[in-house]
Amino acid sequence: MTFSAIIVAAGSGTRAGPGQAKQWRDLAGKAVLRWSAESLVAAGAKKLVIVADPAARPMLDQALRGLQGWSTTGGGATRALSVQAGLDALSDRPADEPTLIHDAARPFLGAATISALLSALDEADGAIPAMPVADTLKSIAPEGRIATKSRDGLWRAQTPQAFRRDRLLAAYGAWRGDQEPTDDAQVVENDGGRVALVPGDPMLMKLTYPEDFAMAERLAGAARITRMGQGFDAHRWGPGESVWLCGVEIAHNETLIGHSDADAGLHALTDAILGAIGEGDIGDHFPPTDPQWKGAASDKFLIHAVDLVRKRGGCLVNVDVTLICERPKIKPHRAAMRERLAQILGLPLDRVSVKATTTEGMGFTGRGEGLSAQAIAVVETPA
Ligand code: MG
Repeated sequence: MTFSAIIVAAGSGTRAGPGQAKQWRDLAGKAVLRWSAESLVAAGAKKLVIVADPAARPMLDQALRGLQGWSTTGGGATRALSVQAGLDALSDRPADEPTLIHDAARPFLGAATISALLSALDEADGAIPAMPVADTLKSIAPEGRIATKSRDGLWRAQTPQAFRRDRLLAAYGAWRGDQEPTDDAQVVENDGGRVALVPGDPMLMKLTYPEDFAMAERLAGAARITRMGQGFDAHRWGPGESVWLCGVEIAHNETLIGHSDADAGLHALTDAILGAIGEGDIGDHFPPTDPQWKGAASDKFLIHAVDLVRKRGGCLVNVDVTLICERPKIKPHRAAMRERLAQILGLPLDRVSVKATTTEGMGFTGRGEGLSAQAIAVVETPA
């Protein structure tokens, strides 16, 4: 089912403590807002509107750098006005298109919740994820007397909340409450609409208080998986004056023969990264039959693989490359190789390793027929 989405990120979130508003804060390596924006784009949102203060545009651009398919509009004085501004920004979409309205402060939005909401809209005017209240409820009277309340029939509403856009706009048009609605479902309920509940997700916790961030950091770890990939490459020695290894040119009385610059270190590492995310091998992405890669600098291949990791919302953790040859001597160039790799990969130096070994005269590397390279890459991506 096609749908569009709005993320409301206009609040200042003062309860979360001093400092930046919570939607811009870092949560396990990316802005809080980015977590749910990535989920909505990955789930296939046709259009994603972020409602945010225009003055926060630099923070928004920074938070969503590299993510495709979003636009932004300014917020209103209240959450309800911000939602309506978001709905207006979707006016080029079909009027009855299902539209998810989400709060930026709930970062861990799963695909199952999105599809449950969209399915529930077939039979209802609105659909919201909700969790039954599990804790015992107490009320405290002004004089301090504590009483126990029944939790029967009580649910905790989460976001995103789903509506056909024209239905929600009509409901907002009819809203006469002198109080601010606390969520969008209330506006539709008030207009006589039927709102369906779909199973909520404890991961959809709202970041409200400073201590919520500590919990979210731990959940962020649980929401990601570690993947490992390995790569191998070999090239034959031929006449030449220098050789490219791990992105560094070394003067040598031979060169490695290949369609590109034959940098076996970068090729093995590119394959390791592609392997970690199940994206085939370097030949799938840069066919050796394609003349545009003739003599190409191999850092292009590596940058492409790293981009694929980032597009999945992932990041590299560390890499380890082993060069296998009798000559040239690698040790004098190792520091330069690590620095060049760290620069290409955007990693600190201590997460980049380059090692070298000979095969003591045995095999094709030992006989000086060619050089080989092995690499391992560790990558973290959303589960
Ligand atoms: Mg190669």
